[in-house]
Amino acid sequence: MTEKVRCLIIGSGPAGYTAAIYASRANLSPVLYEGMQPGGQLTTTNDVENFPGYPEGITGPELMEDLKKQAERFGADIRFGYVTATDLSAAPYKVTVDGEKVIEADTIIISTGATAKYLGLPDEQKYSGSGVSACATCDGFFYRKRKVAVVGGGDTACEEATYLAGLADKVFLIVRKSYLRASKIMQERVLANPKIEVLFEHETLGLTGDKVVQGANLVKRRGESDEEQVHIEIDGFFLAIGHKPNSDVFKPWIETDEVGYITTVAGTPRTNVAGVFAAGDVADPHYRQAITAAGSGCQAAIEAERYLSEQGI
Ligand code: NDP
Repeated sequence: MTEKVRCLIIGSGPAGYTAAIYASRANLSPVLYEGMQPGGQLTTTNDVENFPGYPEGITGPELMEDLKKQAERFGADIRFGYVTATDLSAAPYKVTVDGEKVIEADTIIISTGATAKYLGLPDEQKYSGSGVSACATCDGFFYRKRKVAVVGGGDTACEEATYLAGLADKVFLIVRKSYLRASKIMQERVLANPKIEVLFEHETLGLTGDKVVQGANLVKRRGESDEEQVHIEIDGFFLAIGHKPNSDVFKPWIETDEVGYITTVAGTPRTNVAGVFAAGDVADPHYRQAITAAGSGCQAAIEAERYLSEQGI
């Protein structure tokens, strides 16, 4: 069951949908596979206040639905499906979807984004779905009038803590350093919120509870002379410590850095394989914003169009 396409877009965040808008308007008849999480990370975000063009903000799911509709309006073929294998040894490149369907593509735009990281504690698995979550907007509802903790000190952690404070009675923000890495405005919101208690210089050792999370054991100032064991009572434990780029399925063909971010030719979305481009968070360790992802999706589609015309395809 092999299908041939001119432009295959893998992933459906702002990068993938923007690539689909541009590729379909350039008559490349793009096929886009949405992956495990149609719409990508923004579908788990609450309000997006910094995407240009929305003076009052917009919710993540609405923004993604609009981008998808815009791509479909110009004829992009958007499908459910998850890429399980690739063979980029020679063009046309072969991509297997859901373990069975093989697509042959003249060009590929990789926009598979990144996935939430966990601390690696056995308790995260033990209590998975029973109090441990990496998505406050997905699961926060279950913790109305309860106590929760969020781990992390970046924008995501601050955003999730603020969101959860609107539902829960109390939010602990567990930060391993003595300061927050988040932008000033997010920091100010957290520090001014009476429901949020920031636990600086705390690390999580484990979770406690009978079947569901009921508490967390922390250590304050680990390794210092005043190191202290701390226990907090919580019903929910939310991870917000960053993301891992979803590039594994493209190895060994596509070069990445040591973390797994796809490396591209500086200032372009070109990878080490001709005709294969990378856009959005999977190739961006620095900015990781919806608008920068959308911009790089546009670049990737323009590059794909130029590559095809250069090759006379
Ligand atoms: P970041 O990488 O910015 O922050 C991760 C946080 O998790 C850091 O505070 C880090 O601590 C902490 N951390 C990492 N590993 C561990 C660990 N093992 N144990 C404890 N803490 C840990 O990730 P974000 O997801 O917050 O943000 C990613 C990007 O997306 C950023 O560029 C951010 O600005 C952007 N963003 C923007 C938003 C907006 O503008 N609305 C919303 C959300 C994200 P440490 O500081 O010690 O390294």
